[in-house]
Amino acid sequence: MPEQSYPRGPSVAFDRVGKTYDGAVRAVEDVTLTIAGGEFVALVGASGSGKSTLLKMINRLHEPSSGSVSIGGEPVNSVPVHELRRRIGYVFQNIGLFPHMRVGENVAIGMRLKGEKQDEARIAELLELVELPREFAARMPDALSGGQRQRVGVARALATEPKLMLMDEPFGALDPVTRDTLGQAVRRLHDRLGLTTIMVTHDMAEALLLADRILVMEAGRIVADGDPHAMLTGKGGAAADALVAVPREQAHLLSRLEQGE
Ligand code: ADP
Ligand code: MG
Repeated sequence: MPEQSYPRGPSVAFDRVGKTYDGAVRAVEDVTLTIAGGEFVALVGASGSGKSTLLKMINRLHEPSSGSVSIGGEPVNSVPVHELRRRIGYVFQNIGLFPHMRVGENVAIGMRLKGEKQDEARIAELLELVELPREFAARMPDALSGGQRQRVGVARALATEPKLMLMDEPFGALDPVTRDTLGQAVRRLHDRLGLTTIMVTHDMAEALLLADRILVMEAGRIVADGDPHAMLTGKGGAAADALVAVPREQAHLLSRLEQGE
């Protein structure tokens, strides 16, 4: 159960958002939708469908060519960009930890940029949040596994206490078991901290198992929007059906193998 002591994460709204790169590539076209505060949304679609571009318009790593994006009803360009990014956690594939800095220093970098002192207790608390032993604060990043490094990346993203978490293929480079464990840990964090989470993934199974709501992108547009049950029962339309067919067929084949057929 989510702890209600935390205020919920903010809503995120896209209003007729488009993004054209170099006046030519139309990466995102006419996206209008609202993500409610506290939702865990998976953004799914083939490579090149515009997922990362859409996500990066929230923390202004990209600016829309048309339309507007707002968080909690406030346009993202109404606050200074550093202030905006402090309120938003951002985790991506192969998150770059600084190799010459200890894990604790890596976690604290957001606090330092915010002008806060590096507080050992706070670092220990952040490591605990991502289910790493506090002793890891003294390690160097190259003494961690890939999954542990991604956990440190999540801890670093949480250091400024953002209520909105953006994740771009956060587990893309991990083995399936680690990926599964970390996915569940992130979902628990979302519930516990009352976050709004938007996670990009190309893996429909991961989206179905973790998210409250799934958005399917194709050629820059949102072509399906619904909860996992809707996607599994054919209400997402052709594009969603094609993505759901992959894990469904795998589950079917595994079940037949198990039965010795
Ligand atoms: P996804 O994350 O779904 O793989 P992207 O948002 O990265 O998709 O890309 C969508 C489209 O925009 C692709 O055609 C890609 O080549 C193009 N694109 C992405 N980033 C840039 C960029 N910085 N400059 C030019 N084109 C880009
Ligand atoms: Mg991408």
